[in-house]
Amino acid sequence: MSQQGTLHRPMGVSLMSSKEPLLRVEGLKKYYEAENDFLSQLLGRSKTVKAVDGVSLEIGEGETFGLVGESGCGKSTIGRTILQLEEPTAGSVYFRGQDITKLSSEELRNLRTEMQVIFQNPHSSLNPRLTVNDIIGEAFEIHDIGTESERDTRIKELLERVGLNASHANRYPHEFSGGQLQRIGIARALAVDPDFIVCDEPVSALDVSVQAQILNLLEDLQAEFGISYLFIAHDLSVVEHIADRIAVMYLGEIAEYGTPEELFTPPQHPYTEALLSAIPEADPRWDGNRIILEGTVPSPINPPSGCKFHTRCPKVIPPAGYALEQDEWRAILSLRTRIDNGNIPLDQFSGDIATAIREEYDIPDTIPADVDRILSEALEAVAVDDFERASSMLDKELETPCAVHNPAIRSTANGQVACHLFDDRYADGTVYPETTREAN
Ligand code: SF4
Repeated sequence: MSQQGTLHRPMGVSLMSSKEPLLRVEGLKKYYEAENDFLSQLLGRSKTVKAVDGVSLEIGEGETFGLVGESGCGKSTIGRTILQLEEPTAGSVYFRGQDITKLSSEELRNLRTEMQVIFQNPHSSLNPRLTVNDIIGEAFEIHDIGTESERDTRIKELLERVGLNASHANRYPHEFSGGQLQRIGIARALAVDPDFIVCDEPVSALDVSVQAQILNLLEDLQAEFGISYLFIAHDLSVVEHIADRIAVMYLGEIAEYGTPEELFTPPQHPYTEALLSAIPEADPRWDGNRIILEGTVPSPINPPSGCKFHTRCPKVIPPAGYALEQDEWRAILSLRTRIDNGNIPLDQFSGDIATAIREEYDIPDTIPADVDRILSEALEAVAVDDFERASSMLDKELETPCAVHNPAIRSTANGQVACHLFDDRYADGTVYPETTREAN
């Protein structure tokens, strides 16, 4: 553990994981009140953004834990909440066995010497009016570490350790390239000898040629100092090479955990599979085709019911009792999601509206007759602007466990996954009637 007033990390830092992990997060939630419109305020129905919705993870000493997912899935919020830069709505964060959500502001200030952050954009995260010397030295001031000459020596050492020159200490941020600025950001994080660093998309703002250099630097520093990283990225190809374990996030929840080997041979969760397929030079351990996900990540203000990925999942489980092919069911469910959200602009259709909607939203003409009959009735309701009736008709007749039951994380031979395809109770499309279909 770092000592205040000490400028040099003690030699021989252990890389062994202790029984208690360095960091343990349990049931972490971070909700925000959304900007509520006039009607919501009037009705007293405030809307909540569920940015992080019950995340648990552990990070050992000297380990890199990758957290990956599309923009808006809550991964940066987890990083900030772990660091207590944001107050959690619920859950606990244990650092060396101590719940740091309960610390006083003075205790938290002291903890900042052990937990640091490297930000995504070095251009905006470094104060342009300060010299590099002042940027790195700020932490020494705040934590009252070292004498002036010790600080100067340490800053020069740090600059050289991150691949810059000691003479750069007197320059300003605008005199550096993006890669050099990120090296300064890393030196700033290292200044107080932290044991844990949140690396929040540290290479995504950099040229591809520079990314590898920064990743190599982070790995070298970890090998030398035994630092643990929470490494946040939207690109699976970035974390797969640096992380010991990876969690894939979707809409505030963990979809899958595993080592890179477990995650890629083959991926279990359909979302992980889609992310992996999007890597230009896909991992040689996996040889599937490119999977294009429909649409974007839904709003965390009104997330889908059941499995939050069901509105986009290419393997969503068909309802029991119907002989539906996957592409047929995906098309019907996507149309159903539009109907649920009232998202079909009727004024843009003319003539036989039900048929026009089928054509516009690519409903295959191969769907079985029993399903076709249900869909026809629902589309007739849509055609007369009765979305509610259409919605409840489809919910009742064509229900999938994916839209009803929120999958729990389950252990498998290849890691841990939250998907009904790995749960015998639901994999055949059974929906349990005692569970109501509610938003998460
Ligand atoms: S639970 Fe259903 S919707 Fe969710 S990932 Fe699994 S198959 Fe897809």
